Amino acid sequence: SEKGLIVSFGEMLIDFVPTESGVSLAEAPGFLKAPGGAPANVAIAVSRLGGRSAFVGKLGDDEFGHMLAGILRENGVADQGINFDTGARTALAFVTLRADGDREFMFYRNPSADMLLRPDELDLDLIRSAKVFHYGSISLIVEPCRSAHLKAMEVAKEAGAILSYDPNLREPLWPSNEEAKTQIMSIWDKAEIIKVSDVELEFLTGSNKVDDETAMSLWHPNLKLLLVTLGEKGCRYYAKTFRGAVDPFHVNAVDTTGAGDSFVGALLNKIAEDQSILEDEERLRKVLRFANACGAITTTKKGAIPALPTDAEVLSFLEG
Ligand code: ADP
Repeated sequence: SEKGLIVSFGEMLIDFVPTESGVSLAEAPGFLKAPGGAPANVAIAVSRLGGRSAFVGKLGDDEFGHMLAGILRENGVADQGINFDTGARTALAFVTLRADGDREFMFYRNPSADMLLRPDELDLDLIRSAKVFHYGSISLIVEPCRSAHLKAMEVAKEAGAILSYDPNLREPLWPSNEEAKTQIMSIWDKAEIIKVSDVELEFLTGSNKVDDETAMSLWHPNLKLLLVTLGEKGCRYYAKTFRGAVDPFHVNAVDTTGAGDSFVGALLNKIAEDQSILEDEERLRKVLRFANACGAITTTKKGAIPALPTDAEVLSFLEG
């Protein structure tokens, strides 16, 4: 079947991760560069699986920005939607999982280039050619990038694309929990596909139960598919006329970073090939099994981008 283009819009940044595990940022003897940013991970997940993928966003016109654009290109992601800001620098994060189990973060974002993409800088022809338009990152909450997102969503939708949203809530990044909830819900009813994690479901609904009733309280009439990912417990799906759960694969997880993006990339890749899976439960379940496999494989390797599987890897995992 013909492959449709998937355009992912949002942040791309570099995580600096200590070379030693279990240390605080201050104790780190050195750092490794781990490129990431959820929409960029999704863009690479799609192309690794053999899909057509493009990234839209802004990077600093600096060494880090050009390094990130190079990583997208090397992975087969079309780069014409990338802008470089000559004033602001590429977003950076310093992240560690300390021995006490808490994550410690430090950000360079004041503001970083990813937040500065303006509506007039968007490559509208690229956006109009998308079968699926995917978004959802911290870049969405700040002007001028918020307006750029809203315009891109409108243009993509008018041109017939399916809108896909993953709120990617990272609590330490948001100004406050209330602000996060307000911002996320303000664009909630535009998307036709939404993926949330169990943690995000609880956050957005204020419920402490991850069940069908809680998930359905987030349903809106434009939605075609709501997904709740449950980490090692697999995922649940909610469509217009059916709902259910798909079992996980059991793996030896070493780093769950990027599992959700891998899952989303796999799903969108299949939707870009054939939208009718959204109305066919049996075929959708097969796709979600494949997406669960992608998420599971991603947890077996360190980092996000290096851990995203190719189509061949997923097939041999499923056969094995
Ligand atoms: P997010 O990264 O958005 O929090 P999850 O951690 O729920 O998303 O992961 C997405 C999908 O990846 C899950 O639905 C599941 O299929 C798979 N997955 C994640 N963690 C594991 C794990 N520890 N073992 C097996 N599969 C996993």
